[in-house]
Order: sequence, then C-alpha cells, then structure tokens
Amino acid sequence: MFLEQFPGEGRQHGWIEVICGSMFSGKTEELLRRIKRAEFANQKVLLVKPKIDNRYSDNNVVSHQGSALASKLIENSSEIISLWSNEKIVAIDEAQFFDSGIVSVCNQLAAKGVRVIIAGLDMDYQGTPFGPIPDLLAIAEYVTKVHAICLSCGNLAQFSHRTASETGQVLVGAVEKYQPLCRSCYNKISH
Ligand code: ZN
Repeated sequence: MFLEQFPGEGRQHGWIEVICGSMFSGKTEELLRRIKRAEFANQKVLLVKPKIDNRYSDNNVVSHQGSALASKLIENSSEIISLWSNEKIVAIDEAQFFDSGIVSVCNQLAAKGVRVIIAGLDMDYQGTPFGPIPDLLAIAEYVTKVHAICLSCGNLAQFSHRTASETGQVLVGAVEKYQPLCRSCYNKISH
C-alpha cells in the first residue's frame, strides 16, 4: 500500500524516501512510478545507478516489467554531488551496491532542498542487511517496504533466495538466479 502523496510533497525543504524489499518486489517499478509522476509536474530528476548493475540496459533504469528511464551510471556515491545540477529530485536505484558515503551524500542533498528517492535490496541472498541500506532506512523520513510473492507457498515474500551456485554477496541476475521466498519457506532451505 503506497501513500499517494507524501506529507512533504510540495514543500520547499528536502527529504529522503527509501523503497526497499526483496527481488521481484517491484522496488524499481515503484521508484519509476514516483519519478514519472514528478516529471509530469515538470520537476527535474537526476536518476543514478551503480555501474555494477548493467543488466538489461547500460544507460537506463529498467524494471523487470520493462519500463525504462534514462539514468547515469556511476561508481562512487560522491559522483552524485558533482552530477547534481539543481534537480529537485535525485533518484538512486540499486542503492545496496553503493559505498557507505551515500548516507552523507543523501543528507547533503536533502539539506539543499532535494527530494531523495532511494530503491534497494534490504537483504542479500543470505538474509543479511545489505550494504548501506540499513543506514539509509535510519535517516529517511519515509520508508516503504514492498514484498514479492513466495514462489513456494504464495505468501508475501521478503527473502531473495539464490538458486545459482555462485557465492559472494554480489551476483547480478534475475529469475534464472533468484527466487522470492517467505520466511518459512526460506528457512526450510539450508543456507
Ligand atoms: Zn513461502
């Protein structure tokens, strides 16, 4: 369930929103929905994502459902400040892959009056809080946790179970490498 309007929308000061959840929970779809709605109101948006994630398209943020928007690929969170040219909104996709400096970057932007919208995985495939997301949740004014549907039982899912055999926290992929599971079904599989 999403707030149609955030209490701060329309005001002059900045704030931070985080959309988090497992894979296939619609995080990027929700990020793109908020961006498109703002662009419809002629608000300028800077959309960035980490260079590590080059699936589907190099210069666009594309959801699993296929909708796309032009984005800038960056390697370090500090690049966001140098790229920013007074856009009213800064949107960050796949934020779990950024360095811890992103927390300070988001605070700086919000202090300048920017609406910062962040989307990212809250847990890695082992169920561990992912990268800077826990800290971003702590500093955000608004947090939306979205859920996938458990492929095993149909309940709401918050875990991204890796079906591929590779280990390591970062393994970019989609349906061929991950499936969403609820806590109970996830716990039945030994990790
Ligand atoms: Zn389940």
